[in-house]
Amino acid sequence: MFFIEVILPLSLAKTFTYRVSEAEFHFIKKGMRVVVPFGKSKMYTALVLSVHQNAPTLYEAKEIHQIIDEKPIATEIQIKHWLWIADYYMCGIGDVYRGAFPTGLLLESETIISHKAGVVVNDSELSDDEFLIYEALQHQSSLKVQDIISILNKKNIIPILQKMISKDIIFLEEEIKESYKPKLVRYVKLHSKYETDEGLNNLLEVLKNANKQKEIVLAFFQLQASEKKPVTVKKLVEISNTSATIVKALIEKEILEEYFLQHDRVSFKGETTDKELLLSTAQENAFNGIKNSFFEKDVSLLHGVTSSGKTEIYIKLIEEYLQSGKQVLYLLPEIALTTQLVSRLRLHFGNKVAVFHSKYSNNERVEVWKQTLENSEKAQIVIGARSALFLPFANLGLLIVDEEHEQTFKQTDPAPRYHARDAAVVLANYHKAKVLLGSATPSIETYYNTQAGKYGLVSLSERYNNVRMPEIVLVDLKDKHFRKRMTGHFSDLLIEEIAEALSLGEQIILFQNRRGYSPVIECITCGHVPHCQQCDVSLTFHKNKNQLRCHYCGYAIAKPTHCHSCSSIDMTTKGFGTEQIEQELAALFPNAKTARMDQDTTRGKFGFEKIIDTFKNREVDILVGTQMLAKGLDFDNVSLVGIMNADNMLHHPDFRAFERSYQMMTQVAGRAGRAEKQGKVVIQTYNPNHNTIQQVTNHNYAGMYKEQLYDRQIYKYPPYFRIIKLTLKHRDFEKLKEGSMWLYQVLSQNLAMPVLGPEEPAVSRIRNEYIRTILVKIPHNLHLGNTKKTIQKMLNSFEAVPQYRAVKTAVNVDFY
Ligand code: ADP
Ligand code: ZN
Ligand code: ZN
Repeated sequence: MFFIEVILPLSLAKTFTYRVSEAEFHFIKKGMRVVVPFGKSKMYTALVLSVHQNAPTLYEAKEIHQIIDEKPIATEIQIKHWLWIADYYMCGIGDVYRGAFPTGLLLESETIISHKAGVVVNDSELSDDEFLIYEALQHQSSLKVQDIISILNKKNIIPILQKMISKDIIFLEEEIKESYKPKLVRYVKLHSKYETDEGLNNLLEVLKNANKQKEIVLAFFQLQASEKKPVTVKKLVEISNTSATIVKALIEKEILEEYFLQHDRVSFKGETTDKELLLSTAQENAFNGIKNSFFEKDVSLLHGVTSSGKTEIYIKLIEEYLQSGKQVLYLLPEIALTTQLVSRLRLHFGNKVAVFHSKYSNNERVEVWKQTLENSEKAQIVIGARSALFLPFANLGLLIVDEEHEQTFKQTDPAPRYHARDAAVVLANYHKAKVLLGSATPSIETYYNTQAGKYGLVSLSERYNNVRMPEIVLVDLKDKHFRKRMTGHFSDLLIEEIAEALSLGEQIILFQNRRGYSPVIECITCGHVPHCQQCDVSLTFHKNKNQLRCHYCGYAIAKPTHCHSCSSIDMTTKGFGTEQIEQELAALFPNAKTARMDQDTTRGKFGFEKIIDTFKNREVDILVGTQMLAKGLDFDNVSLVGIMNADNMLHHPDFRAFERSYQMMTQVAGRAGRAEKQGKVVIQTYNPNHNTIQQVTNHNYAGMYKEQLYDRQIYKYPPYFRIIKLTLKHRDFEKLKEGSMWLYQVLSQNLAMPVLGPEEPAVSRIRNEYIRTILVKIPHNLHLGNTKKTIQKMLNSFEAVPQYRAVKTAVNVDFY
């Protein structure tokens, strides 16, 4: 008897045994996919872990349906890493498998397949089966894989479907819903009829009497020669100093030809810039420092102030790893930042840069998957957000985690709840690769690791090109209100500074950590505040839609005209958000052009890039935004940054609140300053003497670190204690209360360490489910693995109690 052990893409910790024939037994290898039946009628794409001859004792092994792959598409190291993630973050290996693979490679009976309107296919190019599937989808716009199986009356169709997906004949339904609209940039090239020498002569003839047009064509040739990359219409208009209409005339005359490319996927012809990147002395020292530290340490932190030119150092380092034939993974906290970075990297590395994006289509993700597996030239450098960590790297040499302090590196839901930075360190270890963490405001944990000698540390304390660190000015809001020097939320000082910057043609960023017009509407008569029906939060007022909205579940109602509790019509707004700031600006500076960047204005896939572009192109004078502004953007004309209210960040009920406030303010402040002029940052606060605000003002990272570290030790938090957070959810309040108390008690009886809770979190009900949390604090001298085993055992007994069976539990290791 012959068997295989597989992982199913389900939230299960177990592996499963299936029967195979002797021939299959000899063919199948670890890392190949097979289609297997599961339960009564389901079918899944499973991943092979091993082949063996031990029949399962608890159940009769079923036979597999078929083998999908000819050779493994997951690597040995990758699977080892997944197992580590499942073990460390206390989740099922199935959770990791499901999260790692592009869904197009994981078809199952429930997957919904669609046909996209407008896609026309030549029937003669389809096989019989393909034709039947194609035809079925003409009658019904979407079908489950299961339905297709019945239609064709055969089980083994997954490879057929996969082939059709890769040929863009059919699609996964989730993809169509999420339809991806890449940003297309308009380019021009010489019309093909003029490409030859003879053509060129004709061209000169054609243009003889059209001077303006000739100028553009000459400018086009110049651009092409000097930049060695595709020429955008925008650039051409800029350089030749003409209007887009004349370019249009040339296109109509068929002298130029227009074409469109997705901006972050522009393909270059060969190497793109001959200009060698020259590092400043400080950068050179940091670069050598990193290389030296890699002799001794596998992980190094580049602590470089904002605008110190960390990216250029990464580029130099990447060059060296590419030369030795290694792959490089570059992790970013936010995919919205990739466009800027990809353009920068493609300038140096041309087509060797691949992007792995959850927003790209399945086919594109599958392509990058295969390229990394085959160690292709085209994916020597992979840029991506945290999930890029799951790609099948063949020969990884360097991992860069930029803005390593960002909390978006930690996945919260669903499992695996992993931290990409920490998981990157483990992956690097398996590949014998190096890790470079970069930040202007390192996380306490990472900096602690450098101080403990675990990670190397390289500091870069000056900005590139002699740009000075911004000057930070504090405005005491209490005093300003008292002396009536406030207009709305703007102090007289901030107004003056904005006026001055505007008069000099400089740009301004205003930071407000809340979106919406003002967070809540309150009844003046009875104090009633409208709340979400399904969540335990007040609704946020959005003025432009005249709506109250829940930021947790999306629930929305029209702004009430009277109080729902006492019917009074005296309603007032409390607190303030980005929308209100923008409106006040319009009244204060009617001639300034403003834009807003928050979750509401960047909702479309490329909304973020659009706003960034208009600001970069100086079409906007003042940009108002939330923390999205704090993420490593590079602007060259911003001289003033205003932080509207520093206090709401400081007062978050979270042990990381001060660390985060420091990081956020320092990062936003870092957008100010240019070569010729020191930037200025105005921070408005009711607590100008607060330690954290003083530390930001004095660029005193060391002071912040020392103070926070002290608190963390006293109050038993990381890096001294590891934290595991258990979250329990149920629709029945009483049952949840009882259940969480039960779990809390068994945990505290069985663990010799602090167990806190059960606590009602600040938002204690979301989408009608009540929430309780329990925190376990594990001191570093105790064995982490054993503690987790105990916790898992307690969770298992909890789930075995009949009345708690329906209570949902989630485990978050190293909770962020
Ligand atoms: P950081 O990531 O450290 O905040 P950046 O890498 O964005 O800083 O660099 C800040 C600015 O300085 C960017 O516009 C970048 O292009 C420029 N810059 C940095 N180093 C160099 C260099 N060696 N040569 C040319 N430009 C550089
Ligand atoms: Zn009322
Ligand atoms: Zn809600």
